[in-house]
Amino acid sequence: MTTTASLADAAVLLAAWEEASAVPACAAGAVLLHRGGLVDDVTQALDLPLATTAALVARLYTQTFGENVEAVVGCPGCGERLEVALPLARLARVADGPVCATVPAADGGRDLVVRCPTSRDLLAAAASADPAEALLARCVTEAGGGPVAPAALDETQRAAVDAAAEELAGAAAALLRTCCPACGHEMGVDVDVPALLWQRIASEVPAVLAEVAELSAAFGWAEGDVLAMSEVRRSAYLRLVRTRP
Ligand SMILES: [Zn+2]
Repeated sequence: MTTTASLADAAVLLAAWEEASAVPACAAGAVLLHRGGLVDDVTQALDLPLATTAALVARLYTQTFGENVEAVVGCPGCGERLEVALPLARLARVADGPVCATVPAADGGRDLVVRCPTSRDLLAAAASADPAEALLARCVTEAGGGPVAPAALDETQRAAVDAAAEELAGAAAALLRTCCPACGHEMGVDVDVPALLWQRIASEVPAVLAEVAELSAAFGWAEGDVLAMSEVRRSAYLRLVRTRP
């Protein structure tokens, strides 16, 4: 595992933001894991089960930005805006569960094997005409490895496959249950860890770009030179620029 890259480093943050901006949303988590130094290459990150991706991204988030992560959600009952603390530190500790589950066969047929999707599965599904069916076709096989046509599954099998997939999704399907203090409405808040990290990074980038632009304009320095500075030194130069007559 690489340990030198850190998203707390402005140059790494910008590179991560730039690369993740250029890929579909479902691959952003894999890109960020690679850029953040938790996975050696993007190919490897794309092939991780989504449960593992989500837990690792939660670790990357808390390592970089701390454990206090809040989201603002609207109460469906009364419209009140609520701040809820998201359990990213806990999700970061979710151990890898099984990658596959077996769904018993309907009368006489073969058992089905359900595999936890990877980011690569989501990318392929998103590019197809029917993403839900494409994902099923990629992640559900016969026990012997043979393909299963999603249309051949009856309603009971379909429900069993969905239940198995949800179980396998682990940290990738985290749902926070909370209760509105104003009206008592109980609600579930989806915790999409890769999306949260992506939004956090995207929110940090404008300030970094503005600092680079300000110092480059003031001193004629190249972007790479400004980004290579420590935060302390960059801040000191910014104070100098802002206070000089
Ligand atoms: Zn409410």
